[in-house]
Amino acid sequence: MKKSLLIILTVVLLLTFFWWSKNKPAKNVSPAAPIPAQTTQEALPTEKIAPENLRAKLQTEFQHATPKVWSEQAPGVETKLPTQNKVLALTFDACGGTGSDGYDAKLIDFLTEEKIPATLFINGQWLATNADNFQKIAADPLFEIENHGTNHIPCSANGHSAYNITGTKNISAMIDEMDLNAQKIESLTGKKPLFYRSATAFTDEICPQVAHQLGYTVVSFNVLGDAGATYSAAQIEKVLLAAPPGAIIILHMNHPEKDTAEGVMQVVPKLQKAGFKFVKLEDYR
Ligand SMILES: [Zn+2]
Repeated sequence: MKKSLLIILTVVLLLTFFWWSKNKPAKNVSPAAPIPAQTTQEALPTEKIAPENLRAKLQTEFQHATPKVWSEQAPGVETKLPTQNKVLALTFDACGGTGSDGYDAKLIDFLTEEKIPATLFINGQWLATNADNFQKIAADPLFEIENHGTNHIPCSANGHSAYNITGTKNISAMIDEMDLNAQKIESLTGKKPLFYRSATAFTDEICPQVAHQLGYTVVSFNVLGDAGATYSAAQIEKVLLAAPPGAIIILHMNHPEKDTAEGVMQVVPKLQKAGFKFVKLEDYR
């Protein structure tokens, strides 16, 4: 009797063991666990140079560099979006300075009402005389605020000129022109600008290298939209209707007395009818 009970107990124990070994949870596997988001992104740089050291580093690195190019499309400067899709980036410069510090309310109101996204390149001098207008546009997520320099000086390592404006004379001045206004914008918006467009859009090839180390991308254009706010509405319409997919179009928002607003208001519905959508530069970062 005792022997048969022992056999039954042994059989039960063995069966229990086999059942457990088949159904036990696998080790180190959790199929439902999501992959943490940060593991799918690029690692952040581990070394960050302090701003005061970065200035000295850039001055040393480029002190003997002689720029070879002076252009609106210097090597390292972005001129179009990386897409063949039917999208266009409307970019508006706010240049600043005497006679250039206007605010084109008609243009901005049109973009707002029609929900047309745009990238606005804001200069430090324009910002100083348009504080209220800046707050208004910066608060609207339709608009991307980017940097058009501190004093509207073209970006040069050795004082090249464009349109009779003498460029920055050295690397230190270049950094001031690029970075002081970016810091001002960041202090007002809480967001560091991604892009810098030089005054007149002319740069040498040193400029985008310095910008890159400061954390910015230099952007120019591939469609001259209003030629410094000198085009008529009809001329603006003509050049914008010929813009290729992915174009970066340069226009101005600081000359309300000129025809830029009228031209943009005429051509935007036609471009939409032709299947174009409007995007911001930051959409393609
Ligand atoms: Zn400008």
